[in-house]
This record gives sequence, C-alpha cells and structure tokens, in this order.
Amino acid sequence: MPQIIRVALDTPLRRLFDYLPPQPGTVPPAVGARVLIPFGRQRRVGVITEIAGSTEVPAERLKPVLEVLDATPVLDAALMELLSRAAEYYHHPIGEVLASALPKALRFGAPSIAREERWRLTEAGAAAAGAGEPRRAPKQRALLAFLLEATEAGVVGLDERFGAWRAAARALAARGWIASVETDVQRPTAPATAVRVAGPTLLPEQSSAVAALSAALEHFGAFVLHGITGSGKTEVYLRVIERVLGAGRRALVLVPEIGLTPQLLERFRARFEAPMAVLHSGLTDQERLNAWRDAFSGHARIVLGTRSAVFAPLPELGVIVVDEEHDASFKQHEGGFRYSARDLAVMRARQASVPVVLGSATPSLETLHNVLNGRYARLELSRRAAQARPPTLKLIDLRSHAVRGGLSTPAVLAIEHHLAEDGQVLVFLNRRGYAPTLLCSACGWIAPCRECDARLTVHLSAGRLRCHHCGADLPLPARCPQCGFAVKSVGQGTERVEETLGTLFPAAAIARLDRDVVRRPGDAAGVMRRMASGEARILVGTQMVTKGHDFPNVTLVVVLNADQGLFSTDFRAPERLAQTIVQVAGRAGRGSRAGEVLIQTEFPDHPLLTHLLEEGYEGFARAALAERAQAAWPPFSRLAALRDSGRTPAAALAFLEHARGLARHLPFGVRLLGPVPAAMHKRAGRYHAQLLLESRERRALRAFLDEWLPQVEQLKSARAVRWSLDVDPLELF
Ligand code: ADP
Ligand code: ZN
Ligand code: ZN
Repeated sequence: MPQIIRVALDTPLRRLFDYLPPQPGTVPPAVGARVLIPFGRQRRVGVITEIAGSTEVPAERLKPVLEVLDATPVLDAALMELLSRAAEYYHHPIGEVLASALPKALRFGAPSIAREERWRLTEAGAAAAGAGEPRRAPKQRALLAFLLEATEAGVVGLDERFGAWRAAARALAARGWIASVETDVQRPTAPATAVRVAGPTLLPEQSSAVAALSAALEHFGAFVLHGITGSGKTEVYLRVIERVLGAGRRALVLVPEIGLTPQLLERFRARFEAPMAVLHSGLTDQERLNAWRDAFSGHARIVLGTRSAVFAPLPELGVIVVDEEHDASFKQHEGGFRYSARDLAVMRARQASVPVVLGSATPSLETLHNVLNGRYARLELSRRAAQARPPTLKLIDLRSHAVRGGLSTPAVLAIEHHLAEDGQVLVFLNRRGYAPTLLCSACGWIAPCRECDARLTVHLSAGRLRCHHCGADLPLPARCPQCGFAVKSVGQGTERVEETLGTLFPAAAIARLDRDVVRRPGDAAGVMRRMASGEARILVGTQMVTKGHDFPNVTLVVVLNADQGLFSTDFRAPERLAQTIVQVAGRAGRGSRAGEVLIQTEFPDHPLLTHLLEEGYEGFARAALAERAQAAWPPFSRLAALRDSGRTPAAALAFLEHARGLARHLPFGVRLLGPVPAAMHKRAGRYHAQLLLESRERRALRAFLDEWLPQVEQLKSARAVRWSLDVDPLELF
C-alpha cells in the first residue's frame, strides 16, 4: 500500500484532502510541513496532518503532491496537537485553524527560513577577471575583481556597498561569468540570557510569587497573579522569564494591545539582552513573517505578542505569561475561528508541561472561579510597589448636583484643586466623538444611520457624522434635512469633554486619547510623552486610557458616566464595568502621591457600585459570582452562540429556526434559547440574530455540537445568510 499524504487546506470545508507522495528524491513529507498540491485547476498550499496507510479516494483520482515546502515542519508536533484540539473545542474546520497559526506569507508558500542571494565566480569568470575583463564596463570589472578575491572562501552576499550592483551582476551573469545561489540566512541561536540591568529588590509578596513560579518551572501549573495596578506584576514576569532564559528555554508573553503598551515593550528591551520577536496586528506582512521566522528559528528568546501570538512557534518553551488576562481582546470575535488566546495559552502550557501566569488587577470571573475550585493557584500582590496608599474611590450623585457639559460641580472643583496642587487629571468617558446624537429640536429628527439601528455620532472638528458600528461617514449638516431648522449636538463624547474642560481650565494643556487620535500603533506614544513630561495637565480618554500606561503624576481620575454598564441585557456588563472602573482608578496616584477617584452616577445605591466601593474588586467578584451561580450563567454553565446575518429579518431568523428544528433530541442538560434578533437588529445593512446554546456541562454541549453542526452546515437556508459559531462567547446581543 502506498503512503497517503493527508492535507488540510485553508477552506471552511470540514474535511481533509488525500494525495500521493511527491517524486522521490525531494524533501520527504512530514506532519506539520507545508505542501504544494494540485487542487482543481489551481495550485494551493496546505499543511500535512497525517501520513496514512490507506484512503477512500479511488486510486485513479489520487494525484501526487507537487512539492514538500518544509524540511522542518512549520508546525511542530506540539503546535499540531494544540491546533487540532482547538479545532475540536471550537468546532471549527481544521484547515482554517491551521491557517490562522501561520503568517500570510507562509500560507502562500514563502520559505520558513529567510533566504538570501549570494554570488560566486564561474571558471570562465575567473579567467575573464584575470584578463581584466570587461574592459569597457568599469563597474562590472570592479565587481568581477571583488568576487575573484572574495569567493576563494565560497559565496558572498552583495549589498549597497557596491552601489547599483544589480545591473552589473545581471550583465555578468548573462555572460556566464558569475552565478547566484540562495542560502538560508544564519542567525545566532546561542542563548543570550544576560540581563542588562538588575531589577529592584523584590518586595516580600513579589519574592514569594517568584519563588512559587520558579519552583513550578518543570511542570504544568496555572497561576493567577492577582495584583492591583502598580503592585509589581510586570517585575514578577521579568524575574520568572530571567530564570527561564537562564535555563536555556524561551518565554511567550501575551498582551492585549501592543500599540498601547510601548512601556511594557520598553521594559522588556531594557531588561534583557536576549533577542525578542514582537507580533501584533499593526505589522506589515513582511514584518510579521520576519518576526515569525525569528521565533521559529529559535533566534528570539522571548516572543511578545497579541492574541494570535499564542500560536507562535517557540522551541523549548519554558513559560507562558498572559498579561491583563481579563481583557476582551484575547477573544477573537470576528471572522471564522473564534478562539480565546487566554484559554488556549492554558491548554498550550499544559501540553508543554510548563507554567502559565495569568496576570491582572481584575481577573475575569471565569479565572476567579478556577481559583476557587482549585484548578488555578492564586498569587497575590496586595500593595503598590512604588507607593503605599491605594486611591480612594467616591461616588458623585448626578441627581443632586449641577452638571455642565457632563461634568458635575464636585468634579470640576476637584479638578481645580488637583491642578492647583500640581497634579495631573485623567477624565474617562467611554464614548468617542463630539456627541452621540444630532437632534433637531423643532421637529424631533435625530440623525440615524441608514445601515444600522443606531444614531450617527457627531465628529465636530472633522465636520462629519459617523456611525461607530458600520463606519458610515457623512458630512455634518448645519440644518435639519427634514424641516430646515438649525440642529444641535446632544450628549457628551471625548471631543466635547475636551472642549468643555478647555473653557473651564483655559490655563491647563489638555491631551486626548481615543481611537480618533490614535489611528496607528505608535500614535499613542506622542500623547504619553505629553503626559509624562507634564506638559499636558489633563488627559481625556476612552477605554484606551485604562490599559497599561503608567502616569505617575496623575492624582485624580474622574469617571464621567458609570451607568451604561449597570442595566445592560448582557450578563457580563457588570463585570466589564467593574473592571473598567478598577483599571482606570488604578491610573491614579502611581507616583509618590495618593490618588483620588470620582465616579459620577445617577444610581449611587446600585449594589454593583456599593460592593465595589466598600469591598473592592474582590467583594464585587464574590457577589457577581453568586449571581451567576443562581442564574446558571458561565462559569456555572457553558455557552455557545450560533449567530447569523441576512439581507432580510426573515432570512436571518429562518436559518436559525431551521437549525433549531434539527435539534430534536437534545442531550440532558443542553438548552436552546432563541433564536432572537440581536439587540442591534440591523447593522451594516444586514439583519443579525442569535441562537444561544447553554449547558451545565461542557462535555454534553460538545457532543451535541459535534453531531448537530455538520447538519446545520447542510441546511439550504444556510446559503442565504452569513453564520458563525462562537463557543464561550464573550459578548451576547
Ligand atoms: P504592575 O505590572 O502590577 O502594574 P509594575 O511591575 O509595572 O506593576 O510596577 C509598578 C512600578 O513599581 C514600576 O514603576 C516598577 O518599576 C516599580 N516596581 C516594581 N517592583 C518594584 C520593587 N520591588 N521595588 C521598587 N520598585 C518596584
Ligand atoms: Zn427638523
Ligand atoms: Zn451604521
């Protein structure tokens, strides 16, 4: 029986494709290596998942693999296992899952190791050089003479030193005097473990965390490093990584948004001499390929990256760190393969028998639940490293104070006070733009998005009306299109708050941080510098200000509106709100002075806020977990969401109804909820709906999905919609 090469392709089909081995004498096939295969009339790149003994494909229809592209598999055995388990867990086709682990250039066949062109003289070339040829072309002559000297040692690379050498080389090659060869670029893999500068003396809690982790380096263990902002978590990561590098192994560090954490990157670079590979969404395809290659070859000792870096190749992995593990950006929530990088990091660590550290000031309720049931070990940092006192939190009752431009009188007075005392102020509002509504007070017209069930946001300085859901972008009208009366902006966005603060505090320079200001990673750095230098005295921003920055001189944080999260239909909204408040509060008083945090609300008696203020995040988490247990929401149950969108409301619902109809025999404990239209039914011109699957037990849900999903895929009505399955969804709508 011939060998059968089983190949996964980047397609949504849940199947593999069988081929015969390539011509003998070429690179031998191995699991995890890429192959070039004939596919219909195309050639495509796939990944070998298995070398099998037999196939159901009739012999006359089997074609041979054209070429095996990798002598060393791009996905080693450990990654192949991780990815196939991820495909099973998320019920996603293996071909797309494998593809998501490879940079685009590799998916299109680029070599896994960087190659460079090198040159040597031919015999004829040597003779010509000796004869002082070519006489009329001095550039070519010089190049030939150089190669005569240089290539005694073998081939040489040519570069800019020779100016425009390419034309000369081409001419010489055409005469058969020189020839080129491609060779792998050699980069040193020797362990570079040296620490540039020693870190500070650890505080007792940091020491015990480092000790606990160091004692666990030889086997799997999941650790939750729970420490308030500024308590020295990063220092703990650095020390553990130092140990790992010292043992000749490598570290994988996952972070939420790299463009927003230049400070973290800086600290790693400042601490270690070891080469690092940095992977994030702001890279070009070539940069991503280069970083991946540095990881793959073992050149990089530390790989630091966002979500998809959880699939980065790392020979001799020694530890995985997930910083800000509660952050929603670890969950891929678009496209086909919707995975949680945090959960896969735990899975990867288990397979590799190494520890994983989940760090956060506000661990997710799932993670805290895993601590309570003993699956994860908790390491606590309860004190700030650089300064002793945590900030004080206070509520401002919006119903009993005058409010101007979204700012209550006590907030304005506090800002004035802190500015006078030479502090900096951070004002947080989770809404960018100038105002969320454009209104005509004569006829009641409100600027709507045509494509969504949503209002258009006013962007005054840009003179545009924009939809934050579909990207619609229109000129800002001065008059009502319905009755011609003058229109006005209602409500607050960061742009308007910046303007209001400007009139209230004309002497204070104000900076703003939101997605309108930060368009590319790196844009944030300018804002950071203005704050760090003290030039800017007030920073107004969205969620972005809650992530990872250190503002040592901020002594006051004002949360303009805490109420959006209090009454949401999404059961996770309170958790997100509590995390945001605690994270933004953590930006206050990181330097030597204590901070003050003011939270404006119309519901100062809401239990979520009172728990948070009186007992901190842990008190909140305890209450929230009890509530989840009672309602049987995760982590006390498992969820999956089948979502779709169609051109009509009927099409969107029909598919989900049919899918539900297929589920006649539900296993014990599995419930279907819906289908229901999404809270924002129409978005980007399409109608969205959702069918929720809930189960007390993960295994029952998984078995059910295994049987049900292939039938759902076959439904005729599936062709009229775009649909996806989201296992462990983070956002419900
Ligand atoms: P986190 O990651 O928890 O926010 P960091 O590790 O960034 O905390 O530490 C906060 C600040 O305290 C940083 O400026 C850091 O350099 C400093 N720091 C951390 N550990 C120590 C220590 N043991 N002694 C002195 N300063 C420390
Ligand atoms: Zn009008
Ligand atoms: Zn829209």
